[in-house]
Amino acid sequence: MKILIVEDEARMARLLRRGLQEEGHSVDVCETADAAAEQALLISYDVILLDWMLPDQDGVALLRSWRQKGLRTPVLMLTARGTTGEKVTGLRAGADDYMAKPFDFDELLARIEALARRGGAHERSAQLGNLTLDARRRVLQGPDGETPLTAREFELLSELGGHRGEVLTRSKLLSCVWGTEFEGSPNVVDVYIGYLRAKIEQLRGDGVSLQTVRGIGYRLVVDAQTEGSRR
Ligand code: CA
Repeated sequence: MKILIVEDEARMARLLRRGLQEEGHSVDVCETADAAAEQALLISYDVILLDWMLPDQDGVALLRSWRQKGLRTPVLMLTARGTTGEKVTGLRAGADDYMAKPFDFDELLARIEALARRGGAHERSAQLGNLTLDARRRVLQGPDGETPLTAREFELLSELGGHRGEVLTRSKLLSCVWGTEFEGSPNVVDVYIGYLRAKIEQLRGDGVSLQTVRGIGYRLVVDAQTEGSRR
């Protein structure tokens, strides 16, 4: 599994990292909310361990902003606090589980595994013509092979695939995929549509097209005949 730890206490972060690595997991650590905010959106983690008290922003506020941006990764909150009211606040903000420090490492491990299983269950694969968008592995599979997608490519294709046949404006795509605070050029959407078209073509994606709607945006169209008929 790929796990992100957001924890400012160096000793705790080190213990968690070492323990999880010994179990064969790949671990990244962020020490501030600011560093974690973008990291969690860029890299597809199986589980995030989030400390409540961070130096720059509290963990609950960070979690709320992730959920508003559509991040669905399971999050387990770690905290020194243990009162029921705070646990409820954490869960309402979108936490999937909660553990008070000090905790038993084996119990933490069991809960992380349970969360990853649950998370995996909602990350379904989507069928786009004769292509399969595999959310779990973030790859696009065709009749003869597959190609990995970057996080942005994956988000963009998921967004268009989730609204197939509908025209999505560039500004809508920009805010869903790059976030409302993105300050670069909106042309980035066109560039990524180009990357996706090349990958679809390379995989011989029949019946799937990313159509340009001049002056407005894009739509994903799946030819009904190829839908579901994988060759
Ligand atoms: Ca802390």
